[in-house]
Amino acid sequence: MTNTNLTHDSAPIVIIGTGLSGYSLAREVRKLDKNVPLLLLTADDGHSYSKPMLSTGFTKEKTPEQLSMADPGKMAEQLSLEVRTFTAVTGIDAPRHIVRIGDEELKYSKLVIAWGANIVKLDIPGSGTDKVFAINDLADYRLFRESLNEKKRILIMGAGLIGCEFANDLKIGGYDVDVVAPSDTALPSLLPTAAGESVAEGLANVGVRFHFGRVVTQVDALGKGVVATLDDGSTIETDVVISAVGLKPRTALAKNSGLQVNNGIVVNRTLETSEMDVFALGDCAEVDGQVLLYVLPLMACARALAKTLTGTPTDVSYGVMPIMTKTPACPAVVLPPRPDSEGQWLIERNGSHVKALFNDHNGSLQGFALTGDFTAEKQALSKLVPGIH
Ligand SMILES: Cc1cc2nc3c(=O)[nH]c(=O)nc-3n(C[C@H](O)[C@H](O)[C@H](O)COP(=O)(O)OP(=O)(O)OC[C@H]3O[C@@H](n4cnc5c(N)ncnc54)[C@H](O)[C@@H]3O)c2cc1C
Repeated sequence: MTNTNLTHDSAPIVIIGTGLSGYSLAREVRKLDKNVPLLLLTADDGHSYSKPMLSTGFTKEKTPEQLSMADPGKMAEQLSLEVRTFTAVTGIDAPRHIVRIGDEELKYSKLVIAWGANIVKLDIPGSGTDKVFAINDLADYRLFRESLNEKKRILIMGAGLIGCEFANDLKIGGYDVDVVAPSDTALPSLLPTAAGESVAEGLANVGVRFHFGRVVTQVDALGKGVVATLDDGSTIETDVVISAVGLKPRTALAKNSGLQVNNGIVVNRTLETSEMDVFALGDCAEVDGQVLLYVLPLMACARALAKTLTGTPTDVSYGVMPIMTKTPACPAVVLPPRPDSEGQWLIERNGSHVKALFNDHNGSLQGFALTGDFTAEKQALSKLVPGIH
């Protein structure tokens, strides 16, 4: 199908991606306009699912099939739109209002990029790297689950949010879990050290084995599993490895198409890129200087962008968005201070539970991190912190 004879106005709004960003935006647009043509293009199978559920699948005993909430046909019917699955966009010609899918050219009236983030991949040598999995979508998750089969031992590289959540989920799901990370404790980029230690202790208490200050340097096949060699020469025998060392907004295609990129695709508060009628949101976007790889920010963006796309230009405003870790062995909630905030963390402990408050030099609260019983104070503290504006 090539629709380049359409004018800008009669062409559909094209959304690239059917993750939470793409489908949330489509849903918000439909609340405001029942008729504007919407076309969603996606490289995957177009199933609608909640990505955060991927790191609770074992505890909740959900198969990949059960995590899918709707197939693309159902989404198309519910939201009166067209979805083209297994359709990877290969280029954008913004001056001509065209997206490319190989040789095919499709005209858009407005284009929204919601194509997410890439997994950071470590270049680890060895004969067992086919047993190393990284999980950032339902298809990755399906492959990982299939690889487990009857196996019981898992090594996780990385002790950030996703590594710790998988550690908790798999341990509760009956697996033997080792976590190897170069940091001194858990969640180092999200929590102050005392709160990270509290989460690590909670996970260790349910049987997760941490190897902090270490990295995996090699993964070799050993029987039906693998042996991982760490940088101090020690080894861990395991069945399957999860790599959870980070995500990076997908920017290459945008850059090649002439859009301004930095850590993500650069957009302003109205979610406009450097090119007219091209917008971005979700894991791929850097909104007014901030890349926020979480659900609440993308929902706020979807609501604002739907208004803009239907004729009312609207800036996104976020409000207060605490991040909750899905680590029931030691629940944690954090509202990180802005990266440019100056101040200090004040730590209070009750046993292994931690309350950390980040005050600026004037003594006003700019962020907090709570673990264990202190998480009950989330709402009260949220009211005292300025939102991300
Ligand atoms: C295991 C895990 C647990 C998480 N837990 C939480 C949590 O508890 N709370 C929270 O706030 N956040 C959590 N997150 C983060 C959150 O899930 C993401 O921020 C969010 O799902 C990103 O959605 P997205 O639509 O922007 O990107 P994605 O879901 O990655 O969707 C990208 C879409 O773009 C498509 N695509 C990519 N390239 C192309 C192309 N060239 N052409 C066409 N289509 C393309 C893909 O096929 C896909 O459909 C978690 C993330 C993970 C991995």
